[in-house]
Amino acid sequence: MAEEIKKVLESDEKSSSNFIKAIIDADLESGKHKAIQTRFPPEPNGYLHIGHAKSICLNFGLAKQYGGKCNLRFDDTNPEKEDVEYVDSIQEDIAWLGFKPDKVLYASSYFDQLYEWAVKLIKEGKAFVCQQTLDEMRRDRGTATGAGKESPWRNRPVEENLELFERMKNGEFNEGEYMLRAKIDMAHPNVLLRDPVMYRIRKVEHHRTGNKWCIYPTYDFTHGQSDAIEGITHSICTLEFEAHRPLYEWFLEAIGIEKRPQQIEFARLNLTNTVMSKRFLKKLVEEKYVSGWDDPRMPTIAGIRRRGYTPESIRDFAEKIGVAKRNSTVELALLEHCVREDLNKKADRFMGVLDPVKVVITNYPDDKTEEFEAINNPEDENSAKRLVSFSKELFIEREDFMENPPSKFHRLAPGKEVRLRAAYYITCDEVVKDAAGNIVELHCTYDPETRGGWSSDGRKVKGTIHWVDARNCLKIEARLYENLFEMEDPFEVEEGHDFIENMNKNSLKVVEAYAENNIRNLKPGKQFQFERVGYFCIDPDTTPEKIVVNRIVTLKDTFSKTLKN
Ligand code: ATP
Ligand code: MG
Repeated sequence: MAEEIKKVLESDEKSSSNFIKAIIDADLESGKHKAIQTRFPPEPNGYLHIGHAKSICLNFGLAKQYGGKCNLRFDDTNPEKEDVEYVDSIQEDIAWLGFKPDKVLYASSYFDQLYEWAVKLIKEGKAFVCQQTLDEMRRDRGTATGAGKESPWRNRPVEENLELFERMKNGEFNEGEYMLRAKIDMAHPNVLLRDPVMYRIRKVEHHRTGNKWCIYPTYDFTHGQSDAIEGITHSICTLEFEAHRPLYEWFLEAIGIEKRPQQIEFARLNLTNTVMSKRFLKKLVEEKYVSGWDDPRMPTIAGIRRRGYTPESIRDFAEKIGVAKRNSTVELALLEHCVREDLNKKADRFMGVLDPVKVVITNYPDDKTEEFEAINNPEDENSAKRLVSFSKELFIEREDFMENPPSKFHRLAPGKEVRLRAAYYITCDEVVKDAAGNIVELHCTYDPETRGGWSSDGRKVKGTIHWVDARNCLKIEARLYENLFEMEDPFEVEEGHDFIENMNKNSLKVVEAYAENNIRNLKPGKQFQFERVGYFCIDPDTTPEKIVVNRIVTLKDTFSKTLKN
C-alpha cells in the first residue's frame, strides 16, 4: 500500500508543482519584481475550511519560499453577512496552521480611497448612477451569445452622476433605488464587463466602519484596488475568478494604477463525502445538524483541529495535492493518510478498549497486581516507557474473540492461545453467557512463564491483542466519527431534494470505553494512538470526572488514488 501511494503522489507532483512558481521565477528573473508580496483574502462570513487551508498554504508558503511577504486581508464588503466572530476565528486558524501574516488588513480600510476612485471614474465619464432595478438589470444584461441593452440612465450628465452618487453616500435613498455602474460595453463578449455594478446601497452597520457608510463597493470594484494598495505582486485566487480578470484589469487601468498586481487562478480544492462552501457549512451549524463550526466532523479548520488533526498533516496534505488549473475532487482518505503518517511518528501509544468483554484469568491470584513496561512510541528511538497495570480481570475488545472462528482467525477463541500485548499468553477455557445467550465473560488461564509477552520455550502464538486492567482503568467517553455524508458527492440528489438528506446518520457514535490510566493527565487536544484501534485525541469537553476522546482516524489506510475527475 505505502509503495502504491508513493507512486501516485510522485507521478502527480510533476504536473502540479507548480505553474505559479514558474510565473514567479520568471518575474523575479526579468526584474519585474524584486520580491514577491501575496495575500490571503477571506471574507469574514464564516469559519475557514480545508479548501481555505490550501489557499493559505499556497499564499504563505510561496511568500516564505521566495523570501517575500504575505498579508491577511479581510475582504469585508458585505456587512450583512460578516462578523467579528469570524474575523477572530480566521486569525486563530491561520496561526494554528503555522503562518504569521506580515500585516493584518481590511478592505474596509480602503473605503475612502475607493470612493475617491469612483468619483474620479464618474468625472471621466467611466461610471454612472443607474436607477434600474436589479430585475431590469438582469433582464437587459444579454446572454453569452447576445448583446445586452444599455440602461436608459447610461448617458446621464457627469454633474448629475456626481450629485446622485454623493446623495447615495449621504443616505438619501433607499436600498436598491440607485447603483453606481461602470460604463464599459453592453455588447462585451464577457458578460461581467457589461456595465457592472460598482456600488450598492446597504443600510447596515459594518463590523468595523459602523454606520459611516451606507453604500458598499462590490467585490470587483474592491479586490484589484486593494491588491494594488498593498503592493501585491501575485494575486492568487480560485478558478471561478478567471472570468473576472478582465474586469480586475479594467478597473486598475481606468483608475490609472501603474504598478499592477497579476491575478493568477488555480483550482479549488474539493473533497469527497463533505460539503465545503461556507454557505452550506453555515446551514449545518445554524440548523443544528452538527454541534457547531468546530464539530469534529466538519471540514472547517476549527473542526479538523478539534478532531485531532495536526497542522503538519494539513500542510503536508496541501503540498501533496499540489496546485492545478483543472478542478478536481480529492479523496478524503488522502487527508486521513496524511494525519496517520504524521501521528505514526509522533503519537504515544496507549491501550484502550472500545467494545469491551471481560476476561477473568482463573489461575491468576485474586489479590495480585503487576505492572508491565511498555514503550510509548516504538517509532521514536528516544521514546519513554510507561507502566501498565495488570490484574486478574481484564477487558479485551469483543471483536478479538470468536466462539467459532474460521481457520484464519488468530485471536482469542475457545482452546486457543493468544498474546496479551506486553503481558502474558492466555488460553480461553470457558465462555460464560447470560440467559439470552450473550457472552458476558471469558474464563482464561495464563502461562506465568510468558511474562512480558514472550515464551521461554520458544512456543509461538500468532495473535497479539490489546487489553485494559478492568480493576484499575478509566471509564471514558469515545466519540467515533464517520464521514458526514455517505455519498462521495453530497449534491447528488433527486429534483426537489436537499443535500441534507444525504447526511450519514452514523457520522457520530458515542461509546463508553475503557483506557489504561496513563491517559489521565493528557491535555485537551493531545493526540495519541490506542494500539490496534486508531488515533485519538482528548476533546475539550473532558472534565475532571470524565475523559472524552475523539477518534481522529482508524489505523486502516483506505487511500487509493489522489485525484478524481
Ligand atoms: P466559500 O464558497 O467556501 O465561502 P469563498 O471563496 O467564498 O469560499 P473566501 O473567504 O472568499 O471564500 O475565500 C478566501 C480565499 O480562499 C479566496 O482566495 C478563495 O479563492 C480561497 N478559497 C476558498 N475556497 C477554496 C477552496 N475550496 N480551495 C482553494 N481555495 C479556496
Ligand atoms: Mg466568497
